[in-house]
Amino acid sequence: MRVAIGAMKHESNTFTHLSTDLEPFEPVTGDAVYDSAWSEGTATRGIIDILEAAGHEIVPTQFAHAIPSGVVTAAAFEVLRDGIVDRIERANPDAVCLDLHGSMAVEGESDPEGALLAAVRACVGQRPIVTSLDMHATVTDRMVEHLDGVAAYRTAPHTDVYDSGVRAGRILTTILDGTPTIVRHCHIPMLLSGEQSETDAEPMASLIGALETTDEAPGILETAYLLGFPWADSPHGGCFAVVTGEADAVDRVETETRSLAERFWARHADFTFTTEAYPLEAAVSHALDHPSTPVVLSDSGDNPTAGATQDLAIVAEHLLERDVPDALVAVIVDPDAVTACRSAGHDVDVELSLGRTGPERDAPPLSVTGTVRSVQTVRGRSMAVVAVDGVRIVIADDRVSVTDPSLLEELGEDPAAYDLVAIKCGYQSPAYQAIAERSILALTPGATNCRLETLPYERVPRPIYPLDEPDWKPSL
Ligand SMILES: [Zn+2]
Repeated sequence: MRVAIGAMKHESNTFTHLSTDLEPFEPVTGDAVYDSAWSEGTATRGIIDILEAAGHEIVPTQFAHAIPSGVVTAAAFEVLRDGIVDRIERANPDAVCLDLHGSMAVEGESDPEGALLAAVRACVGQRPIVTSLDMHATVTDRMVEHLDGVAAYRTAPHTDVYDSGVRAGRILTTILDGTPTIVRHCHIPMLLSGEQSETDAEPMASLIGALETTDEAPGILETAYLLGFPWADSPHGGCFAVVTGEADAVDRVETETRSLAERFWARHADFTFTTEAYPLEAAVSHALDHPSTPVVLSDSGDNPTAGATQDLAIVAEHLLERDVPDALVAVIVDPDAVTACRSAGHDVDVELSLGRTGPERDAPPLSVTGTVRSVQTVRGRSMAVVAVDGVRIVIADDRVSVTDPSLLEELGEDPAAYDLVAIKCGYQSPAYQAIAERSILALTPGATNCRLETLPYERVPRPIYPLDEPDWKPSL
């Protein structure tokens, strides 16, 4: 049979002034998907592999992904939605299998994935629609209404992205082989950050383990916990249990959905930070006291991989105030500072007003005098390294993910050679964990502040933990 595939992936932070237009999504259309970054390690690749192995024909539509940032513009969303929907309409496929993140926010639309799926449903009628989701998806009633199957990542950090596509593809092949399915979901009233829910740590390790048992129950095809995205003030915010099962096993599917939601809620108070976490001053003190190096410190409040502006100089300022003798700070976004370094040249002193210039007022710019150590273009970013006393500061002209230490190596910096490496991220990637003698989460201000109770939520459904103490029983 002919299966249309497509992808729309974004995690939108509503606490930043950034807005996201079409350009960072770099949409890929049609067969170009096979020659793109989508062709390796993605859920889309998993979907393609399993469906082709089952003898189905793939009809690629549009594939678009941008790194987390602010709310997506209405015009960009129209292109993202129509690029998939129009191609599905023209192809008239037997089924649809998508690769979505979940947790996108659009100007004037709080449920863009629901809007996309409703539009796809309008094209394909009762033919099946299945999707893969990121573990940090927000699940809405409208999404579930138009889905016949859901699979989601089961690891954080995400190391099973491809497998999630394979599992979504398997649900679809089961349906195409003649077993109709249903999806049920249950909203769990909790806001949870990724930094509290790494899957190697409790309680996620046990909860994910229980999914694997439930998958085996009669009538059940696939189970998932979706953890939402806490740095969005969404009327759909929360965590979710989602179960896909056989249509003639409705009672079993609903019972398992309730049971998974109850099991999750029973652990709600156990979701502490999975990396040791302290306010900045204490975090730096622990780092400096540690006998072996490097200690890797996450500047978690200004984490670009969860949509923050990456332009706060708070950690650099604190390290300089404390005269820390050997530290690296990566990466502060400030295009003017990069230009100033480029104009000054190598080994020349520059005066910089570093960081934040936008309307958010978490921190003013930091005035420093430093020596330019390098200016180069790496991964499409113009970047400078400046030495200020004992602190080396990496500056970029635009936001860039720093979850991989190889970025620093490309800049000629060896992160393992420093006593303290402060990076703008949340929970640390396996690659950073591998070089860190100790990993510490610094609870810093910014658009990804991990102290959720301090964020100015207005639209999340209340009561919700940890803002409230809900007295909760599951209802579907
Ligand atoms: Zn995620």
